[in-house]
Amino acid sequence: MESQIKKIHQQLVSKQITCTTLVQEKLDLLKQNKYNSVNSLLDTLALNLASKVDAKIANNEEIGLLEGIPFGIKDVYMLQGTYTTASSKLLKNYKSAYTASAIQKLLDAGAIPIVKENCDSFGHGSSSENTIFGAVKNAINPELVAGGSSGGSAVNVAKEYTVFSIGGDTGGSIRQPAGYNHIYGLKPTYGRISRYGLMAYASSTDCVGPLAKSVEDIRILLNVMSGKDPKDQTSITSTEISEKAILNNNIKTIGYFKNFIESEAIDPKIKADFLTSIEKIKATGIKVKALDFFKSDILVSTYYTLAMAETASNLSRLDGTNYGNRIEAENLIETYAVTRSENFSEETKRRIVGGNQVLSQGFSDEIYLKGLALRDQISENFKKDFEEVDIILSPVTPSTPPKIGESLKDPHAMYLSDAYTVGFSLGQLPTLTVPQGTATGLQITAAKNNDELVLKFANFLKETI
Ligand code: GLN
Repeated sequence: MESQIKKIHQQLVSKQITCTTLVQEKLDLLKQNKYNSVNSLLDTLALNLASKVDAKIANNEEIGLLEGIPFGIKDVYMLQGTYTTASSKLLKNYKSAYTASAIQKLLDAGAIPIVKENCDSFGHGSSSENTIFGAVKNAINPELVAGGSSGGSAVNVAKEYTVFSIGGDTGGSIRQPAGYNHIYGLKPTYGRISRYGLMAYASSTDCVGPLAKSVEDIRILLNVMSGKDPKDQTSITSTEISEKAILNNNIKTIGYFKNFIESEAIDPKIKADFLTSIEKIKATGIKVKALDFFKSDILVSTYYTLAMAETASNLSRLDGTNYGNRIEAENLIETYAVTRSENFSEETKRRIVGGNQVLSQGFSDEIYLKGLALRDQISENFKKDFEEVDIILSPVTPSTPPKIGESLKDPHAMYLSDAYTVGFSLGQLPTLTVPQGTATGLQITAAKNNDELVLKFANFLKETI
């Protein structure tokens, strides 16, 4: 698909549509909330900003590419004065005191936030069912889950309720729902976009990223949000990616992980479609190497060990004192306990308990430190792979989206469904889901800081498979 941002920009500039009508139309669609993708509407703010854009256009003033473009925000980002609930009971009434750096950059470019989007609470989940706002429904088949945790964001983009949305990806939360709803979703290199103002889940893999309908829109948004930020010490400087730089493919060798494809857990159709895509790529003269990698269950257990440890630590501040709905009890300890047990979901509590366990004395050497060591080995493996290949291609998920309600019964099975996304998060690599190749898309991954190559290969795939 062509760039939606450029198309709408053209329509605004040529006065085919007004920004107010555009924003109002999207708000009307979101208000119906047919897919449970909406946590709160930003109607007053959005219409106010839209009228300013219209005034500029009426005045024949020039407007920027993103000016007046309506977008959605996963409900884990701070936007001053708006509710930021993380889809949790604990923060149901919490209003952001400041604005996240990535969101501020979009505001500075003139984009208009119209909705805070439903997701798994605190990013904990792969289906967007772990939320107080009702399970998000899949954009293609509403009986199925939307994927998660950025499910609301993916659905809003797929249904064109927003032109793009900003999700968060710790272990697959942008890429997997993008795959389930047939759109593009990018997890950039860790640190390329500042995490300041993104509610922390697992700080060492949390990434800010866009969901959109074209590679070009992903490129535009990545450029706008990237950059070193003094407010996030892990953020890095990066160079802008030009439109031209990602047009002509010069990628000669790609690889895929044999064990991902040979695993018993993979749906036979996803496997067959993946291998067909590989054949089509080979037919263009690109060399394809089958690579060895860690078994999926090792990736999943390493990721969940570290993610649970980090989330237990990050969420310890939510005790009803500075943040969250406080429930008073007999004494302070009881107040903390009741506030947290009543207000966190079962899934979030499972992770806090698990995380505190792996961090505790007597267990941390055996479990947490082992997880850290494995992560180093995984990164080493990636480093070696990228000496041999430019790109690693993989399916996004081993199977197609389950029916709503089905996967909640078995948390362990839900964790295993993240088998193909979590490894790239541990490696802090740039990875993009494209809506092609298999029923839940394909994942394109490159070496650290090589986000440009990912986008280039995505452009190439558009024409190839
Ligand atoms: N499904 C994974 C988890 O629950 C990833 C979630 C995410 O990226 N926020 O941890």
